[in-house]
Amino acid sequence: MSKTYKIAVVPGDGIGNEIVPEGLRVIDAVAEKHGFSIETESFGWGAGYYLKHNEFMPANGLETLKAFDAIYFGSVGLPAVDDTLPAKDYTFKVRTGFNQYVNHRPVRTYPGVTRPIRSEKHIDFVIVRENTEGEFVQMGGQYLPDEANGMGIDTSVFTRKGIERVAHYAFKLARTRRKKVTHITKSNTLINSLSYWDRVIKEVAQEYPDVKHEQMYIDNSTAMFVLKPEIFDVVLTTNLFGDILSDLGGAVMGSLGLGGSGNINPEKEFPSMFEPIHGSAPDIAGKNIANPYGQIWSAAIMLEHIGEVEAANNIMQAIDKSTSEGVLTVDLGGSASTSDVADAVIKNL
Ligand code: ATP
Ligand code: MG
Repeated sequence: MSKTYKIAVVPGDGIGNEIVPEGLRVIDAVAEKHGFSIETESFGWGAGYYLKHNEFMPANGLETLKAFDAIYFGSVGLPAVDDTLPAKDYTFKVRTGFNQYVNHRPVRTYPGVTRPIRSEKHIDFVIVRENTEGEFVQMGGQYLPDEANGMGIDTSVFTRKGIERVAHYAFKLARTRRKKVTHITKSNTLINSLSYWDRVIKEVAQEYPDVKHEQMYIDNSTAMFVLKPEIFDVVLTTNLFGDILSDLGGAVMGSLGLGGSGNINPEKEFPSMFEPIHGSAPDIAGKNIANPYGQIWSAAIMLEHIGEVEAANNIMQAIDKSTSEGVLTVDLGGSASTSDVADAVIKNL
């Protein structure tokens, strides 16, 4: 009997409603080819839902999602909704509620896509971003006594448990790749939190003597992402730095629309969530011009996570074939529509 996976689908807002269905078409086609099936249930949560219900997802949302093998997510956010809310009410809730402490964000060259950087070398690395603590714990406050005075404070929290578990993921991942971890920090100025982060990571590194371990500061690393991106294999970094570096990673590839990602709970005690690295892009929504490659790549990362590695590889090969044939969306200088891209990927599976 063929395996069936239960996937929760949360398209979200804006272009999520266009690229998620295209990604699902690719998943269905690849499943049929590789002899497994996908059962999906769609949830209309996000900023649109918030405008009607005053919350991004129902109070029992996490409980509902628990029953699934994975969550295939687009993006949440609309111009009419305060942009500090989506992170708090959907993304942060799912990431922390399901212990998705790894944000796995690969960066690679797509054949046939022009990149904005000089390096002609093949780029292939993974940003492993700590996803549940650090700078994003939302602990702090504002003191606003009057118009002329005030201050805002956010506290970063790095725990041994939080650092160790994401570090183990990065070193194990490096073992399956080119065996190098570059850990990115700023412990020369954030002398309490990030020097603790460094210390714990160095301890974990000792358990992986076969993996090369390097440390780099965030300022230098942003320059290296542009000047010598080929030196990276696994980039291990904090929540905030990982957030920034992944947009830079998207740009290095040629467009934000190209990046896929997984919010991963490596122990599989809860479902993991797979989404493109970009937002809901309301400025281009509803026109069938959004680039779905990152959303489709996220499907491949999801299939790999649930154990369908051959199907995942098949999607990646089909993506490469499609971009090298020149099936490129407007952001990549082409004229293919969102659905043209999915058609091409399905044809090339
Ligand atoms: P978020 O806060 O959710 O990260 P954002 O404000 O950073 O969102 P995005 O929605 O990521 O913004 O959009 C940034 C820019 O990139 C916009 O001009 C958008 O049109 C473009 N963009 C993002 N994703 C895509 C895509 N898949 N295809 C084409 N253009 C995209
Ligand atoms: Mg963004």
